Amino acid sequence: MKGRFAPSPSGRMHLGNLFAALLAWLSARAAGGEMVLRMEDLDTARCKDVYARLLAEDLRWLGLTWEEGYGAGGPNGPYCQSERGALYAAAVETLAAQGLIYPCYCTRAERLAASAPHGGAEPAIYDCHCRTLSDGEREALAQQRPCALRVAVPAREITVHDRHMGDYTQHLARDCGDFIVRRADGLYAYQLAVVVDDGLMGVTEVARGADLLSSAPRQLWLYACLNLPPPEFRHIPLLLSPDGRRLSKRDKDLDMGILREHFRPETLVGYLAMLAGQQDKPEPVTSQELARYFVWDKVPRKDITLPAGRERFFNMQDCQDGATVIK
Ligand code: GLU
Ligand code: ZN
Repeated sequence: MKGRFAPSPSGRMHLGNLFAALLAWLSARAAGGEMVLRMEDLDTARCKDVYARLLAEDLRWLGLTWEEGYGAGGPNGPYCQSERGALYAAAVETLAAQGLIYPCYCTRAERLAASAPHGGAEPAIYDCHCRTLSDGEREALAQQRPCALRVAVPAREITVHDRHMGDYTQHLARDCGDFIVRRADGLYAYQLAVVVDDGLMGVTEVARGADLLSSAPRQLWLYACLNLPPPEFRHIPLLLSPDGRRLSKRDKDLDMGILREHFRPETLVGYLAMLAGQQDKPEPVTSQELARYFVWDKVPRKDITLPAGRERFFNMQDCQDGATVIK
């Protein structure tokens, strides 16, 4: 049994990242398993070494240990995705040998123009037609622009048997569409990298935020194409602020830098343990102790809205330890 942390070092961790990291760790430890820490720093423009170091430091401070990976070494390195390009290239070759890879010449502007009227995020499904270009059309486009690489998904349903959330099914062609595995600027895509890495690192359980459940079917399909052993998935409910927004790295008041100034690790773990249904009250507890009685069945399946006491709990003037502050 081997679990993993796979954070993106693009900022300091916030309470929501902490919650997911704690549950991934508890799940592995409660089952006597090991943990790997891998830095998902593919987005070189946003990721920084200093955040990677702080992430590792913050995990240690919480008592969330790992025996393999960033800062610990091990047989399956390197443990930063930015150094694993050759492995991703080999995986793309494996897919190409099965006729599954084609160049996509669409620009970001073209993809956005085809998106919903509200703009903003790109649509989940973008049907770009580059799959059916003739050789001549391809050659002409290749003169003009660099290409991304897409993988052609089958018109087939894939079901993930999520051990916490239950079965989750997507029709790959209809619900997901052909997706990019290497961007036009040469960066490999998260969907490919995460499968190659968890597969080669021997990860047997992927426990992570429920925002990634919709990625799990295409990942499960990639495991099969790459002939890698798939892990078990357990998706974890997200923490929401009282107004129903997802916590993000923009919620500065909940980031680890500030949390660590005001709370002891066992106070934070105790609070998160309560949100995770493991104890009735936010009583301080170490992650080690908690691992002794952790059970998945008690973890909620719906997203968790932080109690209204949050303002007080995280009020920076409240320098008392949190357990005495939240009621
Ligand atoms: N690196 C991703 C993130 O920090 C997590 C990827 C995963 O757990 O599969 O959001
Ligand atoms: Zn295209």
